[in-house]
Amino acid sequence: MNTSRNFKELLKSIPKTDKILQKLPGDTPPSLKLRICRRVLDDIRHAILSGNLQDISSLSIEEVTERIRRELQRAVEPSLKPLINATGVVVHTNLGRSLLPEELFEPMFRIAANYSNLEYDLENGKRGSRYSHVEDILCELTGAEAALVVNNNAAAVLISLETLAKGKEVIVSRGELVEIGGSFRIPDVMARSGAILKEVGATNRTHLADYERAIGENTALLMKVHQSNFAIVGFTRSVSMANLKALGDKHGLPVIEDLGSGNLIDLTPYGFIHEPTVKESLEAGADLVSFSGDKMLGGPQAGIIVGKRKLVDKIRKNPINRAVRIDKLTLAALEGTLRIYREPEKALSKIPTLKMLSMSQEETKLRAENLRQALAALGLNDLDVDLTETISRVGGGALPLQNLRSTAVTLELKKGTGDGKSGVAGLERELRLGDPPVIVRIEDDRILMDVRTIKEDQFTLVAECVRKAAVKLGLD
Ligand SMILES: *Cc1c(COP(=O)(O)O)cnc(C)c1O
Repeated sequence: MNTSRNFKELLKSIPKTDKILQKLPGDTPPSLKLRICRRVLDDIRHAILSGNLQDISSLSIEEVTERIRRELQRAVEPSLKPLINATGVVVHTNLGRSLLPEELFEPMFRIAANYSNLEYDLENGKRGSRYSHVEDILCELTGAEAALVVNNNAAAVLISLETLAKGKEVIVSRGELVEIGGSFRIPDVMARSGAILKEVGATNRTHLADYERAIGENTALLMKVHQSNFAIVGFTRSVSMANLKALGDKHGLPVIEDLGSGNLIDLTPYGFIHEPTVKESLEAGADLVSFSGDKMLGGPQAGIIVGKRKLVDKIRKNPINRAVRIDKLTLAALEGTLRIYREPEKALSKIPTLKMLSMSQEETKLRAENLRQALAALGLNDLDVDLTETISRVGGGALPLQNLRSTAVTLELKKGTGDGKSGVAGLERELRLGDPPVIVRIEDDRILMDVRTIKEDQFTLVAECVRKAAVKLGLD
């Protein structure tokens, strides 16, 4: 037990700041050294006063300095870092969603390192528009009259509603009042935009007559929202864009659609459930469509708004546009991604998201065999390395019912080695805390590494990460 004398003794034994600072590496910024040193010493003082630190030997200058050195190391490394996604979830929102095509790195770098014509019209030597760099190509790819890009699709929906329906009613089916995750819920975004949500129909069934009955003096818009991350199956009914458009025309109301993921090419030839592409949605009559740049499109984070010029122009002039405007690096990446879409075949091979989504099970099998061999070459006796069929997911709140048949490499601890911290959960943890981190799934007491989302040239790196994790756990 701690007596007050012990407290005093322990507190007095804490090494002095200036002594510690002398021992820390000279190449780290002094302000950072001081900050971390103070923080660690504060933690130590708290630990002593709360009775959690009683071992005086842990207060030696060597021990304390070592602890500070470790924290310094962590502080000088970037916090945001690459990792290996072995989950098989292609558009993984927690893991950065979409990977940019490699051929965009150089153009992005050139825009980052130089002045550019971001908002400068070179032809006329006058101020230009940052949106001009992608508007034409977006219209070309989607058949729209006009286009605008903002920070993300959440912003696209917010600014569209604020511009076109503030203080007025927007009619949406009860089957489409989706929550995307985080705090993005259609009813809440609607409220924030100042628009009034008028929900119609039932969760599973909404008819055209439901919309029609809800139209009144104060109606501004008819809106469709892509269900994205859920599906209603069984006794269901929803109203098509074409029918909604006919109703809108009858009452002089624009029809807008939040498409969520927003595909530019039809993926049904690759075994995908049919989804309306942006072009199809516009052809069916949508006056305005918004979608994400970094979901199935496979580009940078952005919100893309396409549709009738009159509506797009109004949104562009909304002062909120400045608050949600797109950054120049994003713009460079988006322009590059969209250019690739001019040749759909090229898009499928060059845009990582599309490449991973369209990968056949046959190909995943071949890749998994390569990874299995890299792992087998480690010669770890305590680990069984095998292959299993598995299902990858599209992710990003898109196509929840789409099963992507894939292959995973499994790691299983041999009987008798799975106790204590070297259990399969321990292995998952070590892989996650490794450098680079490897994020895996656990199923049936095995580690699953779905090869669909692992780059082929990283297989040896993955094997090396497994070796390091195994060493940490004392596996043979
Ligand atoms: C994902 C999604 C959003 C939000 O898009 P972000 O680009 O993540 O901001 C909005 N609406 C729908 C229907 C979505 O699926």
